[in-house]
Amino acid sequence: MICSSFPESALRFCIVAKRLRSIPAAILAVLLAVAALTGPFACASAEESGRVPILVYHRFGEIVTDSMTVRTATFAAQLEWLTSHHYRIIPLRRLIDLLSDRQAALPPRAVVITADDGHESVYREMLPEIQRYRIPVTLFIYPSAISNASYAMTWDQLAQLASLGLVDIQSHTYWHPNFNHERAKLAPNAYRAFVTTQFARSKQVLEGKLRGKVDLLAWPFGIHDPELEHWASEAGYKAAFTLQRLPASHASSLLALPRYLVTDADNGARFAALIENATSPGDAP
Ligand SMILES: [Zn+2]
Repeated sequence: MICSSFPESALRFCIVAKRLRSIPAAILAVLLAVAALTGPFACASAEESGRVPILVYHRFGEIVTDSMTVRTATFAAQLEWLTSHHYRIIPLRRLIDLLSDRQAALPPRAVVITADDGHESVYREMLPEIQRYRIPVTLFIYPSAISNASYAMTWDQLAQLASLGLVDIQSHTYWHPNFNHERAKLAPNAYRAFVTTQFARSKQVLEGKLRGKVDLLAWPFGIHDPELEHWASEAGYKAAFTLQRLPASHASSLLALPRYLVTDADNGARFAALIENATSPGDAP
């Protein structure tokens, strides 16, 4: 039994009530009746228990040089807006724990922030904002680029981020392949071996270098299907993320959780509308 879109006190009561299965049913019934009379709320199904937008960023900079770059000033303004409008930025891991429990209510006015690809500007531009606002962020990294590609962070920089207690580092496969292209050119067995190596090697390298648990996966280019999801699950991933502009809810599949790709155009009233629509009560996706 859980509640949605009601006062937090009501929400807490229903969560507590859910945990009181060990007390006699008659007492529980009385408690519920009293609670129902003390406020305008009702208990609802898990599918109605809230929606949480997961935002995904890529690069940051002083100016917009491409569609994947968000100006640092835009990012800072978005964080300021979220803070001043009483939204809570929660760790992605916390959201996954709640989504893994069908009875758990999702917190109201919650937002998750992620960044894909490990670009150097995450360290240079995003990190100061993470520290200024003390917000949890999850980075999805493909290890082949780290300390290798000119645009990417180094392992030392990633280790610094991981040591902050605010940044969780997770997998974006080993070298960010396009699985549609690989499937078209490889025999079925070779394709499966390729995919499972991408999943396993990324997890192995990230866990070996940074010492954190890696069991979350961002699909490169957002490409996924049931076969890929099955192999990801076999490789030890408990949740995976797409690029679909929808909020996450209990109606979402854990291996295809939607995320909003944020661009510099998501500024001012447009960003406010995105967040307000994604967190407002309504039909879950
Ligand atoms: Zn990517």
